Amino acid sequence: MNNVQMGLLMLLLTTLGVVGYNVWLRETTPPTMTYTAFLADLDKSEIKKIHLRGGEITGENKKGNSFSTFSPDVPGLMPQLINKSVEITADPSDPGLGNFLQSMIPVVLILGGWLIFNRTQSGKASGSGFSKGKSSHLLPIGVSKITFADVAGIEEAQGELTEIVDSLKNPEKFSKLGGHIPKGILLQGPPGTGKTLLAKAIAGEASVPFFSIGGSDFVEMFVGVGASRVRELFTEAKKNAPCIIFIDEIDAIGGKRSGGNASGSNDEREQTLNALLVEMDGFASDETVILVAATNRPDMLDPALLRPGRFDRQVTISLPDAKGRLKILEVHSKKIVMSTGINLAVIAKSIPGFSGADIANLVNEAALTAARHDKESVTLPDFEEAKDKIVMGLARKSVVISEKDRRTTAYHEAGHAIIATVLPETDPVHKITIIPRGRALGLTQQLPLDDRYTYSYEYIINRIKILMGGRVAEELIFGRLTTGASNDILTATEIATRLICEWGMNPTIGPVAHMQGHGGFLGGGSSVKPYSEQTAQTIDHEIKKTIEECYEETKQLLSDHNKLLHKLAEALLVNETVDAEEMSIVYHCYLNQKGIEASLKSKREGAS
Ligand code: ADP
Ligand code: MG
Ligand code: ZN
Repeated sequence: MNNVQMGLLMLLLTTLGVVGYNVWLRETTPPTMTYTAFLADLDKSEIKKIHLRGGEITGENKKGNSFSTFSPDVPGLMPQLINKSVEITADPSDPGLGNFLQSMIPVVLILGGWLIFNRTQSGKASGSGFSKGKSSHLLPIGVSKITFADVAGIEEAQGELTEIVDSLKNPEKFSKLGGHIPKGILLQGPPGTGKTLLAKAIAGEASVPFFSIGGSDFVEMFVGVGASRVRELFTEAKKNAPCIIFIDEIDAIGGKRSGGNASGSNDEREQTLNALLVEMDGFASDETVILVAATNRPDMLDPALLRPGRFDRQVTISLPDAKGRLKILEVHSKKIVMSTGINLAVIAKSIPGFSGADIANLVNEAALTAARHDKESVTLPDFEEAKDKIVMGLARKSVVISEKDRRTTAYHEAGHAIIATVLPETDPVHKITIIPRGRALGLTQQLPLDDRYTYSYEYIINRIKILMGGRVAEELIFGRLTTGASNDILTATEIATRLICEWGMNPTIGPVAHMQGHGGFLGGGSSVKPYSEQTAQTIDHEIKKTIEECYEETKQLLSDHNKLLHKLAEALLVNETVDAEEMSIVYHCYLNQKGIEASLKSKREGAS
């Protein structure tokens, strides 16, 4: 670097320093209220005392709350302050320009420049101001109060961790025989499945200090801070052994290293990761410090982290099944006032795919809904409303739907529901509605009787037919096509594709996997089998053929049950929602040629 460059750099640093200095000044007393709000309070005589420092005002209101703001016109403010007999104290205009500080300015400028420079360097300008002392994150959050009782539905993962808890409580028992306690545990699974919760529960059960830090906390705006923070964390933890270090969202630092090309922007992260690896290897076996980390993206992690001796215990947590959901519901519903006789099992069944966090949210939403309706306790309809809200976004009851759209939707949904009812090997219909929610105009919900892990060919084909039912009904009744079925068609195409390419159920293609490389959770794309252009054409052809055949058969079915289609659509147009029981009444009456409306009416009146 020659002198000119050096000079330029200094100039740049100084300029940045000025900016940094100003930022720092502002950082020291952040205004907590606007000047307008301050004037309003002053007018209402709510201000007790203030302290002036230049235009900066800090003070206390009569309720005892402190505040700060900035005045553009202090002299103009004085008469009013005196008028309202506010207690005033003041400092010389700007303490930042006091003698001592004045002499410090160049140092501050250069330091500021350096900080800002580093900050831009590390490519992370979005931090919330400057770091407020690195140790603030590292204080043990004390002993966690969460125990295994707060975690439900993931017994398997919990079982694996009980041993860790034992080893923390009773280290000699394990080291006596020469074995060493696993030092690193990696919790992996989709978001909201309770990984963070479980880590806290381990600490709570073992009653040891718990150091918690988010992976992204390491990736700081200052170069080198991440790495030093890692070292500091481990030093601190060793002093407090036995204890647990918990790194949440470890993928933020533990992602795969780019390898080779040192292009700068990822240097910081790699330094942090390297520091972590060094520290993990540096554990002495007599130190009972256990590192627990959590991630949603195990596939993103650097392989070095997963090597034996580092995270040698990997615990996968998956989304809960109906039984798990029920247990999680039980844990969370204890926190709210439930009305008696709510069958939680029914709710648990109706929320396939919900994570623990979704369930916690559902219970809370249900309690809020009940409160909104001024109820004494939370009832099943509150849960239904909360569920619908979470699943489909807020109800759009206020949106005006034309009568034509309503009719189309009623026949469309009736089409789905009838096919689901008349075909064997299908999930029973849970609820049909033409109340628009989110982006959907209507919805037919089916409910599996059990959590299924395997599906028969017939079940899959019937799924496609059910999906086609909506479009077919529209075509039969109105003789025209609408865009309302676009999502159904997309889903049907996906199912048909998997039927052929993944599940090997198509006779022409045979039991060969032609994965399309869809990478979901743990869905590593390594097994993608390359195939020829000709095979690709055959696959396309077979997908089309499968769906077309389903379409034709669905059309036949709905024509056969034309009368039922009209009856169900009518019932929907009148009642907007038809539940499982009502659906079976409609079907029963249709089969026995009884009056549907009368039967429905007596059911509804009996219920209320
Ligand atoms: P993750 O870290 O896997 O994304 P969290 O542990 O942060 O998920 O879960 C968020 C919240 O969801 C928890 O605080 C808890 O209220 C609820 N929750 C998630 N899983 C469970 C579970 N298995 N049992 C009870 N509550 C759970
Ligand atoms: Mg988490
Ligand atoms: Zn549909």
